[in-house]
Amino acid sequence: MKDIIIIGAGTAGLTAGIYAARAGKSALILESTAYGGQIINTPDIENYPGIAHISGFDFAQKLHDQALALGVEIDFGTVTAVQDDRAEKKVVTSGGKTYSCRAVILATGAKNRHLGIDREKELTGRGISYCATCDGMFFRGKDVAVNGGGNTALGDALYLAAICRKVYLIHRREQFRGAEADAEKLRKLENVEFVLNSTVTRLNGEKDLESIEVTRKDTGEVRMIPVSALFVAIGQTPDNAAFASLVQLDEKGYIVAGEDCHTSREGIFTAGDCRTKSLRQLTTAASDGAVAATAACEYIDRL
Ligand code: NAP
Repeated sequence: MKDIIIIGAGTAGLTAGIYAARAGKSALILESTAYGGQIINTPDIENYPGIAHISGFDFAQKLHDQALALGVEIDFGTVTAVQDDRAEKKVVTSGGKTYSCRAVILATGAKNRHLGIDREKELTGRGISYCATCDGMFFRGKDVAVNGGGNTALGDALYLAAICRKVYLIHRREQFRGAEADAEKLRKLENVEFVLNSTVTRLNGEKDLESIEVTRKDTGEVRMIPVSALFVAIGQTPDNAAFASLVQLDEKGYIVAGEDCHTSREGIFTAGDCRTKSLRQLTTAASDGAVAATAACEYIDRL
């Protein structure tokens, strides 16, 4: 039996592992895909205190290596249920494995939001992408578009502007939600065009994406933009359905928890983007990991 099982190997989960291990507890992280979480898709991190610049991939790799060096274990599998039998909790994966532990930290992050328009699924991997750093190089020298106005969209547009011929940044409002410093950098680039107050309303192309239809929200004016790729960066949604009967979720599916990272159930803690919070950033995910692990250690010591 492990002391703590952490579900999710993103920034919050890996940080929780580091804190648990340093507190002398055995910790296992269960991850459904690849370790690192959302940050591996961020080309440049420039807002993590003490690190002026690092790529998301390098950051995640360092975090992973640090956790493993401290004795944290990582196993792969999608968690389908957590059973709570007071001092013993059982974590079940889709592969049929069951793990036992004393405390659980839910650090499941969030997954990419989709546009929800016709042919989006069919053209995914054929011009539609949710990860500029993963797929940007396929469109080197081509014209591409980014949809969104948050930090991800701005970062993606900057990254793509350096390798693509032209980048259209399509956002549904006039103001960006992401950092002004990045918006300012984009304004200075000659190969970046802002298409504001607009949404993507249609995807065109026989086999691969060839153009997108963009509609202005105020005038209804429709514009066809020829692009080889559309990078969708319109935020994330949580994926906590498996825990709906375990802990309280809010109306959007986030795990209800305050800054102490306690959930509605004793011995189950939560960290990072999967919980209710006002600021979802790398720093707050790392902070949650530390808080949740410390709370879990204190809980175990009281058992
Ligand atoms: P986000 O901040 O939630 O921004 C999503 C953007 O997509 C918003 O501009 C939103 O428009 C737009 N949007 C949402 N639904 C849409 C729809 N159906 N159609 C068209 N547009 C839509 O998401 P994010 O940029 O992925 O960032 C997620 C979190 O990670 C944020 O807290 C962000 O700060 C953080 N992040 C941090 C870093 C970093 O620290 N370096 C890097 C990347 C991301 P509105 O503005 O109109 O709502």
